[in-house]
Amino acid sequence: MDILWILWILPTALAVEETLMDSTTATAELGWTVYPTSGSSENSWEEVSGYDEGMNTIRTYQVCNVFESNQNNWVRTKYIRRRGAQRIHVEMKFSVRDCSSIPGVPGSCKETFNLYYYESDSDTASKSSPPWMENPWIKVDTIAADESFSQVDLGGRVMKINTEIRSFGPVSRNGFYLAFQDYGGCMSLIAVRVYYRKCAAVVRNGAMFGETLAGAESTSLVLARGVCIPNGEEVDVPIKLYCNGDGEWMVPIGRCMCKAGHEPMDNGTICKACQTGSFKPSQGDESCIQCPINSRTTSEGAINCVCRNGYYRADSDPLQMPCTTIPSAPQTVISSVNETSLMLEWRPPRESGGREDVVYNIICKSCGGGGGRSGCTRCGDNVQYSPRQLGLTDNRVHISDLLAHTQYTFEVQAVNGVSDQSPYSPQYSSVNITTNQAAPSAVSIMHQVSRTVDSITLSWSQPDQPNGVILDYELQYYDKELSEYNATVLRSQTNTAVIRGLKSGAIYVFTVRARTVAGFGRYSGKMYFQTMTEAEYNSSIQEKLPLIVGSAAAGLVFLIAVVVIVIVCNRRGFERADSEYTDKLQHYTSGHRMKIYIDPFTYEDPNEAVREFAKEIDNSCVKIEQVIGAGEFGEVCSGNLRLPGKREMFVAIKTLKSGYTEKQRRDFLSEASIMGQFDHPNVIHLEGVVTKNSPVMIVTEFMENGSLDSFLRQNDGQFTVIQLVGMLRGIASGMKYLSDMNYVHRDLAARNILVNSNLVCKVSDFGLSRFLEDDTSDPTYTSALGGKIPIRWTAPEAIQYRKFTNASDVWSYGIVMWEVMSYGERPYWDMTNQDVINAIEQDYRLPPPMDCPSALHQLMLDCWQKDRNNRPKFSQIVNNLDKMIRNPNSLKAMTPLSSGVHLPLLDRSVPDFSSFSTVDEWLDAIKMGQYKDNFANANFNSFDVVSQMTMEDILRVGVTLAGHQKKILNSVQMMRAQMNQIQSVEV
Ligand code: AMP
Repeated sequence: MDILWILWILPTALAVEETLMDSTTATAELGWTVYPTSGSSENSWEEVSGYDEGMNTIRTYQVCNVFESNQNNWVRTKYIRRRGAQRIHVEMKFSVRDCSSIPGVPGSCKETFNLYYYESDSDTASKSSPPWMENPWIKVDTIAADESFSQVDLGGRVMKINTEIRSFGPVSRNGFYLAFQDYGGCMSLIAVRVYYRKCAAVVRNGAMFGETLAGAESTSLVLARGVCIPNGEEVDVPIKLYCNGDGEWMVPIGRCMCKAGHEPMDNGTICKACQTGSFKPSQGDESCIQCPINSRTTSEGAINCVCRNGYYRADSDPLQMPCTTIPSAPQTVISSVNETSLMLEWRPPRESGGREDVVYNIICKSCGGGGGRSGCTRCGDNVQYSPRQLGLTDNRVHISDLLAHTQYTFEVQAVNGVSDQSPYSPQYSSVNITTNQAAPSAVSIMHQVSRTVDSITLSWSQPDQPNGVILDYELQYYDKELSEYNATVLRSQTNTAVIRGLKSGAIYVFTVRARTVAGFGRYSGKMYFQTMTEAEYNSSIQEKLPLIVGSAAAGLVFLIAVVVIVIVCNRRGFERADSEYTDKLQHYTSGHRMKIYIDPFTYEDPNEAVREFAKEIDNSCVKIEQVIGAGEFGEVCSGNLRLPGKREMFVAIKTLKSGYTEKQRRDFLSEASIMGQFDHPNVIHLEGVVTKNSPVMIVTEFMENGSLDSFLRQNDGQFTVIQLVGMLRGIASGMKYLSDMNYVHRDLAARNILVNSNLVCKVSDFGLSRFLEDDTSDPTYTSALGGKIPIRWTAPEAIQYRKFTNASDVWSYGIVMWEVMSYGERPYWDMTNQDVINAIEQDYRLPPPMDCPSALHQLMLDCWQKDRNNRPKFSQIVNNLDKMIRNPNSLKAMTPLSSGVHLPLLDRSVPDFSSFSTVDEWLDAIKMGQYKDNFANANFNSFDVVSQMTMEDILRVGVTLAGHQKKILNSVQMMRAQMNQIQSVEV
C-alpha cells in the first residue's frame, strides 16, 4: 500500500450522529409492545421506572423468568422512521444478572438476549403482527453482557451497566421496528438509542460539499460532488469527496482556487475580492498584491492596476512592475565635425522614465547652405549612420556621407519601451553643425565598354558624394605583371576613357578618382580588365564584319563604331550585337549621377559579367559548415569566409550541384552578376563567387533569421507595430535603391526577403531562372505567356501584358506589407489564382490584416492602384513610413472591425466561426490551437460562451502572450459580429 492510499483512507473529520429514537428522553411511558401478553405480566418484559448513572429517572424494561423453562419474551419498540438513513446503529445499555449467583437456578438460565429488526413502510404493527419469530423479524445479533451483576440492587444504586452497539443495513422502507427477545434471563434494558451517521456539510480545497448520509455498509464510501465557493474556480477536476460508513469525510480529490481579483481568507473557506488599491492577476492561492507605483485600481476585485495618467506599461512589462513614463531629453549633445562626417555624443537623459530600456534615435535635417531652421528638410537616405540611425544603445553615433558646406540640425531623441504609447513626441536635444569643404567620395564602379587587342574603353559612375562640381577624373593603370610604380596616369573630363597602346591579351589594373576644387577624392578599388588576344579579336571581327564597311585597322574601326553608336543611340532598330553596347554607353555617358543596373544577359559572354561584377574567391577561403536550405541549383549552406587580411565572417553559400549544363551554370551565376552590382544595407550583399573550382559557389552575407515569411510565421504576434513598420521601411529602402538603379525585381515577396539577427530585412533572390517556362516545380509561379508569374504578388498589367516596371514592384511591395502585417498569412488565402485575377479586375483588394493600423492599410491600397502611374514611388513609401515611425500615434487608428468601408474583399484572416463544429477546430483555424486544453478546462467549450469572452477571461484561461491575447480577443469579437449578422439575417 503506498502513501497516497494511506492518506486517501484517513478520515478527515469526525462523524455526526443523527438520533432517530432515544428511550432516555421519553417523558412518559415508553409503551412498547410486549409479547406474550396472556397470563401474568411478570411472565414477560415489564416497563419499570429506574435511574441512569446520573441518577436521572428513566424508563426501562425488565424481565426475570429464570425459574421457568422455554421462555420467549419479546418487547417491540414503536415505529421508527428511517429519515433517509441506510445503515442503522443501535446503542443498548443493559444489565444482566449472573446465573450462577441465583441460588437454585436451573440450567436453562440465560445471560444473553437477541436483537431483531423489522422493516415496514408504515406503522401497521399490531399485537400479533408481525409474528413474534425470526423471519419475518431479522436477527441482528445475540447480545451478551461484558459484566453481569451478582446481587440485584432494586434501588438501582450499584448497577453494572453494559453498553453494546450493533448496526444493520441496508434499510430501504420508510421505517422499522426493533425487538428484544429474552429466552430465560434476568436482565434490565436500561436505554436504547437508535441513530444513523452522516458527514456534515464542509468546505474542503475551496469547494463546498453538502451534508451526506453514510452508506448502507460499514465499508461503503458515498461520493459527494463539490461546488466551488463563490468566486472560486475549478483547477483540478473532478472535485469530489467520499463519506465513509462511519460518517467521516475522506481526503478530497480535485480543488478550486480563488479566481483572479480574489484572495483566499478564513482558511480558504471564502474568496474575498481584492481591496481597492490591490490586485491579483491570475487564479491561485496567493494573496492580493498592492498596486505597483504609478498605478491604481478603480474598484474592488481588480485583476490588474491601470497606470496613472502619463504612465504606461509596455507589452512585455509584468503587471507587478511599476508603470513608467517616457524619458527626458538626452543631455549635452556634443558634435565633432570632420569634413562631411561627424561624431555625435551625449549623456543619458536626467529621467529615464523609470525604465532601463532607453535607446536613441537620430533625426537629421539639412538646412541648406544658408542655414535657418525654417528652411530645413529631412536628410535623404544616403546619409550613413554607424552603428545605426534608430534604436541606438550607446551614447554616440558616427554620421557620414553628408553634403559638404551644408548646415544640418541633428536631433537626438530618447525613447524607451513606452514611448510609442505616449501621445507626445519623444523628447530630444539638438545640435546645429556645418560640414566642411570635402573632396569627392570614391568612384564605386568601373565598367568595361569594349576592348580590342591594344585598347580598352572604360566608363565609370560619378562618386556618390561629389561634394562639388567635378573638374575631371584621374585614371591610373598598370600591367598586372609589373609593379604599381610603373603606373600610367591619364586625365579625363568625362567619366569615360579609351586607353590605348596596351599589350594584347594582357591584364591591366585600373583605378580612378574624381577631382573638385577641394582636391582629389579617394581612389576607387582596383579593377582588372584584359585586352583581347589576337585569336579573340579575329573571331570577334568575323561577327562584326557586316557592320564595318571599308575598315582596315580593326582597333580603329571599333572605336569609330563606338562613336557612331553614341551619336545615334536614341534611334531604334539596331542590330542585336550593337544594341547591347549602346545600352551600356547610354548608362555611363548620360551624366546620370546614379549607377545603373546592367542586365548580365546583355553580355555576349555572361561569364564576362560574372568576372566584372563578382569577386572571385579562392575556394580555400570558404569553409562550408552546414546545409540550411535548398536553392534552385543546389544546396544552400552556412559557413565561414576568411579572406586574406580580413576578419573571418559567417556567410551563406549557394552551391551549384554537380552535373550542371553550361546553361545552368550561366543561369546560376547570373544571380551573382546582378547582386554584385548592388551595395545597400537593405539589399543582400555578395561577398564573391567561386567559379574556378568545384563546386561553383555564390557567397553572400549570412542572414541569421532566414526568409521573412517563415520568420514571421514562427513569431506570430510577437512584434510591436513599430518593429513591423521598421522591417517594412528597410524593405522599401532597399527597393528604392534598386529602382533608382533601374532594376525591376519582378518577384518581390516576403519569401524573397531575408532577415538578420538585428531584424534588418534585405531584398534578395535575383535569380531569373524561376521565371523560365521549363521549370514546373514551384506552384507559386504560374505559367503565362512569355514566362512564369507569381500571380498573387504581381500587378495586373504585368500579368496581362508583362509590363514589369518599378511600379509593378510597388504593387508587390503592397502585398509584402500585407504579408508582414498578417505575420506571414498567404495573400488571398485559399482563393485560386483565377479568382484572384478576377477579384482584382473587379477592384476588390485585400482587407487590413488584424490589428493593422489604418495608415498602413491605406498605403497598401495606394500600392494597389489600378493605374500604375497613381501608385507611390518607393522614395515616397520610405518617407511615408519614416513619418509613421517618427509619429507612432499615427499608427494607433485601426480600421473598425465592423465598418466594412475598407473591407472590399471578405476578410478571411478571421475565419467564419460557423464553418467549424467545435471550439477546438476554431482555435486551430485562428492558429491558437495550443490553447485548446486551456479553453476546455475553463469550460469555454461552446461558441455561445466563447463569443462572450472578455480580455479578463482570456487572461484567466492562461493566455499570457500579449499578441495571442489580442488575436483571440479579435477573433472573439469577430465571432460576436458574425453571430449578430446571422441573427439579424434570421430576423
Ligand atoms: P534561395 O535559393 O535564395 O531561395 O534560398 C533558399 C533558402 O536558403 C532561403 O529560403 C533561405 O532560407 C536560405 N538562405 C538563402 N540565402 C541565405 C542567406 N544569405 N542567409 C541565410 N539563409 C539564406
